[in-house]
Formats: sequence, C-alpha cells, structure tokens
Amino acid sequence: MTVFIGGAWPYANGSLHLGHIAALLPGDILARFYRQKGEKVLYVSGSDCNGTPISIRANQEKSTIEAIANRYHEEFVACFEKLGFSYDSYTRTDAEHHHKSVQAIFLKLLENGYLYKKTSEQAFCETDYQFLPDRFVEGTCPNCGGKARGDQCDHCSAILDPLDLIDKRCKICGNKPTIKETEHFYFSFSQFQVKLESWVIKAQKENRWRKNAISLTTRYLKEGVPDRAVTRDLPNGVDVPLAGYEGKKIYVWIEAVAGYLTASKEWAN
Ligand SMILES: [Zn+2]
Ligand SMILES: [Zn+2]
Repeated sequence: MTVFIGGAWPYANGSLHLGHIAALLPGDILARFYRQKGEKVLYVSGSDCNGTPISIRANQEKSTIEAIANRYHEEFVACFEKLGFSYDSYTRTDAEHHHKSVQAIFLKLLENGYLYKKTSEQAFCETDYQFLPDRFVEGTCPNCGGKARGDQCDHCSAILDPLDLIDKRCKICGNKPTIKETEHFYFSFSQFQVKLESWVIKAQKENRWRKNAISLTTRYLKEGVPDRAVTRDLPNGVDVPLAGYEGKKIYVWIEAVAGYLTASKEWAN
C-alpha cells in the first residue's frame, strides 16, 4: 500500500509568504514520518496556474499569462528546494499532461451521465468585458447581511449563488455587473445525495472526522446538495473538449482537485 499525500496547490499569482509555508508544512512532515516508518509514500502537489487572477495580473503588467505563471512557479520551486520540501513530484496545472487528463475525466463524467447542459444567468462586467467568476462578484449576503463573495459567505458559511447577492459589484473594477445568459455543464450532485449521507454516517460511527467537518457536511446534506456548474466562461484554464464550447473552461473546483490524480499519473509514467 502507498500512503498518498496531496499538498495544497499554491496559486501562481504572487510570492509565497510564511502563512503559505505554515499551511504546506504539515504535508511534508507527514510524508517524512511515513517514509521513516518504512511505508511507500507518494507526495505530490504543484502550482495552480489557471484562473482569473493570473489573467488580470497579466493585463495589468502588460505581460502574458504564461510569463506570470512561469515567474511564480519557478520562484515556488526554488523556495521549496531551499526549505528542503520532499515532494515526490511538484508539477503545474498548465502542463499538457494535466490538461489532457482533466479533459479525459470531463468526457468520462459526461459519458457516465453525471453532467448535463443548462442555460443560466451569470454576472457579466461590461467594463472588463467578461463573465465574472463567482469570487469576483461581491456584495451583501442575503442570509445574514454581512459582506460576502459570490460563492460563499464567510460570516454565516452559506453557499451562495453570485446572483443572490444584494448590491452586486465587480471585484476587478467596482462597477455594477449586468446579467447575461450562458450555457454550461452542471455536475449532478443530487445523484450522490444518498451515497454521501451513508458515507458521513459511517465516518461519524468510526469517529474518524473532526466534529466541525461532520456538522458542516451534515448541514449541507440536510439543505440538499445543489448541482454545480463544472464549466465557466474564463480566459485561462483547461478547455472544454467539445465542439461548440470554444472559450469555455473546466471550472477550478473540479480541475485543480483532479490535479492530485493527474500529478500521480504523471509521476507513475
Ligand atoms: Zn451570510
Ligand atoms: Zn468590472
């Protein structure tokens, strides 16, 4: 048996600071612990090189997405080497192997009936002339009245749809976004409701999860697991591998997480 450890993917949009290292260090300690015990360990991670903040930075610096990602990826690798991190593989999410593997996963999910198409309304900024990722819509939480981002409220932990926010603003330019229709693929989480419920009950019985992990997961399941979009209108990321969907990318929550599998496959190759 191999002990698999997936370290968090630092975002290639700025330098690392002590807080990042503190969050990444436990994975390295764990990897060393298991290796010393004589276990086989596979410890992987990489730089997250996709997403909107990198493309915004490239625009601001009149540079390219690739140049920004290269700069920080190389800086991260040098830092990890100096600090003696012991990754078995440290890759990046703009690598060709990652894009190909993520696209294969997407097509497999589609083939197995877990994805479906739906037209929905999404926030669009006329000033920046782009659809806004959830986190780039800010406003007031309809649940508690606190300041919230489009995907989630940090005050009351409610999972939000950016369109539910009151007094919506574009995070890039501060203007009020308009609403436009766009077609996307959705992951049918509802098909997994029963499976997830029994999994959490099992985890609870075995006493293997932290209390807050159990209570938050139970709460989400009680509210009913909503289907979530797996594609987005983004400038930078893994292309949706289907004709007619040019310019659409696979959403980060499925793409970056799949990186643990794609990095392992690359390491095995
Ligand atoms: Zn709230
Ligand atoms: Zn804007």
